[in-house]
Amino acid sequence: MTTEELLQYDKEHIWHPYTSTIAPLPVYPVDGAEGVEIILKDGRRLIDGMSSWWATVHGYNHPVLNAAAKKQLEKMSHIMFGGITHEPAVELAEKLLGILPPELEKIFFADSGSVAVEVAMKMAIQYWQSQGKSGKYGFATIRSGYHGDTWHAMSVCDPVTGMHGIFSGSLPVQYFIPQPSVKFGEEWDEKAMRPLTDLLEQHAGDIAALILEPIVQGAGGMYFYSPTFLVRAKELCKQYDVLFIFDEIATGFGRTGKLFAWEHANVVPDIMCIGKALTGGYLTLSATLTTKQVADTICSGEAGCFMHGPTFMGNPLACAIASASVSLLLESGWQEKVKAIEAQLQQELAPARSYSNVKEVRVLGAIGVIEMKEPVDMAVLQRRFVEEGIWVRPFGKLVYLMPPFVIRPEQLSRLTKGVLKCIGN
Ligand SMILES: *Cc1c(COP(=O)(O)O)cnc(C)c1O
Repeated sequence: MTTEELLQYDKEHIWHPYTSTIAPLPVYPVDGAEGVEIILKDGRRLIDGMSSWWATVHGYNHPVLNAAAKKQLEKMSHIMFGGITHEPAVELAEKLLGILPPELEKIFFADSGSVAVEVAMKMAIQYWQSQGKSGKYGFATIRSGYHGDTWHAMSVCDPVTGMHGIFSGSLPVQYFIPQPSVKFGEEWDEKAMRPLTDLLEQHAGDIAALILEPIVQGAGGMYFYSPTFLVRAKELCKQYDVLFIFDEIATGFGRTGKLFAWEHANVVPDIMCIGKALTGGYLTLSATLTTKQVADTICSGEAGCFMHGPTFMGNPLACAIASASVSLLLESGWQEKVKAIEAQLQQELAPARSYSNVKEVRVLGAIGVIEMKEPVDMAVLQRRFVEEGIWVRPFGKLVYLMPPFVIRPEQLSRLTKGVLKCIGN
């Protein structure tokens, strides 16, 4: 198949994320990827600034993860999880429970981040129902969040960037409060708790859980907020009988400078979702974790069990790779790597602060964000980035970098220089 044929067929038949079939945005044919380089079909190599949406923390085509995949493939790539268990799932569970808060003892494997969020929300509903507390069907969340594209996950995404208007009428209406007003690193102001306090005072009887991304809001706004918000929110949730759900699908596995973002505040949620970097970006896999108390309460109810069980639950191939990926991460010296990336991003993105079209530059862990004053033309900017030899995919007003942790300083410099050159006016 020639590149022209490939692109033509793709354009006529294949949907890409958030893309029109009438006027599809350009796509770039990729032949392979290794380390932090994406290899285009024409042989050009791009430095990856996206980690394929938070996932490939170790870079592409990693020998350790490849070996784990091959080893498991020879045994079995999949087997149903109903009535069956296997070493890859048990080993992975043990590793994850060892690095997550000890209170979270029960793990549910699911197949994508969105499904992990659906599972968390269903757990919260069943938790209250089992106790005969009827009417707790709603969810509270903060604006500019992102929790996935499936139905209830979408209902707690930001109403504007999640474009709820299109689906209004069929989407459950949830309770939204503003983004925490105190940013990460700023001095705490108790006023930031007013919206949540007011909401829970009035509506706690209708609310099953508060769900949010701890510390770093990802795809909904790339915003970093004060850990104290989580401390206070936890107290309020306890006081008002509302469960607290952390969506750590983007923040997990070192990205924010802590292994998981809850550690910034030392606040343990009742339910936590993880995904994205879980398999090092090899396969789709997610997990929802909860306490023994929540799990047992769910299962003491009318149903007698938790009502969910996806076909590919606990997929052995994904679990084996995830297990290898978690071990690789823990042995990789990730903390120093993320610290070094953070320092370099701080230094090399700083000049953009003086650009007339830039509103703000913010960096936390291995995440660097340039917020523009106006939305960018994605197609044009993306083409310019590719010409500079870098892979960066902006959205809305946000141009951001979250490279694989294995990136070398000179490769990161190419990313930051390329970005500054392309957005500079
Ligand atoms: C990406 C993401 C999801 C959805 O995960 P998918 O695997 O795309 O379904 C949910 N929550 C957060 C915070 C995410 O970043």
